[in-house]
Amino acid sequence: MIKYCLICKNCQNSFDSWFSSSTEYEKLKKLNHINCYVCNSLEVEKNLMSPSIIRPKIKDSKDKKYIKIKDKIKEYQKFIKDNFNYVGDRFTYEARSIHYNKKKNEKGIYGSASDRDIKELEEEGIETQIIPWLKENDN
Ligand SMILES: [Zn+2]
Repeated sequence: MIKYCLICKNCQNSFDSWFSSSTEYEKLKKLNHINCYVCNSLEVEKNLMSPSIIRPKIKDSKDKKYIKIKDKIKEYQKFIKDNFNYVGDRFTYEARSIHYNKKKNEKGIYGSASDRDIKELEEEGIETQIIPWLKENDN
């Protein structure tokens, strides 16, 4: 036995009906033996609007949004890699030497620094920017 949720296209009435198999349903449908018990219309169809079908779509669009943001960050990372020199943990040191020695640097620098380091640099008048960063293996 198989249970179908049916919907009447004429009066929007939805109701459950039991069939011995899906082929039996198709057969009865073809013979016009399935009709709405409210309005007697033969415009009755299987109602596919069940939540289990809708849910994956919502999840999908959310994932797409997340992937889009990740792609933007990756693009940004690539730009920085191409246009800035990576100094790693020496970021605060390099930032100071550029600031105080007026060291000529064609490229900017990027690297890691703690919140305290950034705050200190800020107090010394050295502007830094915190950028979102994804690890290479974070896919
Ligand atoms: Zn009806």
